[in-house]
Amino acid sequence: MSVIGQAEGIEHGTVRGYKQHRYRQIPACDACKKALRDDRAAARRGERPERAKPQRTSRRKAAEELDAATEATPVLLPVPPPPQLPDRPEIGVPIEGADLEIGDVIVFLGNHHRIDRFEPYTGSLRAELGEGTRVACAGTWGMTVGPTSTVRILPRPRRDAR
Ligand SMILES: [Zn+2]
Repeated sequence: MSVIGQAEGIEHGTVRGYKQHRYRQIPACDACKKALRDDRAAARRGERPERAKPQRTSRRKAAEELDAATEATPVLLPVPPPPQLPDRPEIGVPIEGADLEIGDVIVFLGNHHRIDRFEPYTGSLRAELGEGTRVACAGTWGMTVGPTSTVRILPRPRRDAR
């Protein structure tokens, strides 16, 4: 069963939680964004442990190392993180159509469109897309957006930036 759109079970306040938000296409909460920022900052300062590199060892050498390891104090190796999609802010973050605001930059087919106005939607899909469907316009470009459609936008500049 898909968890897309499901908020339940997200481990808020963790990098993992942040990824769960993204995977489920639910805008990240502040706690998760903070976790991600803290993690990035730690990585920049070189505090995050490197992923252990796979090593090719001969059977004999491996056996010797095993002997040595059983004698030595056990060392907890960092568990490699689960496979993840590369972090690509340029492909945007998903938000709901109803949350779209003037000034947001829609990422669509690799192009960026900064919304300068909304126009009423007068097409025939209104019943399907829902009340509140509008056309997000950027110059001559326009995109029909239902209130619950998922739209990808560039991350908004934080309003509480220091
Ligand atoms: Zn969260």
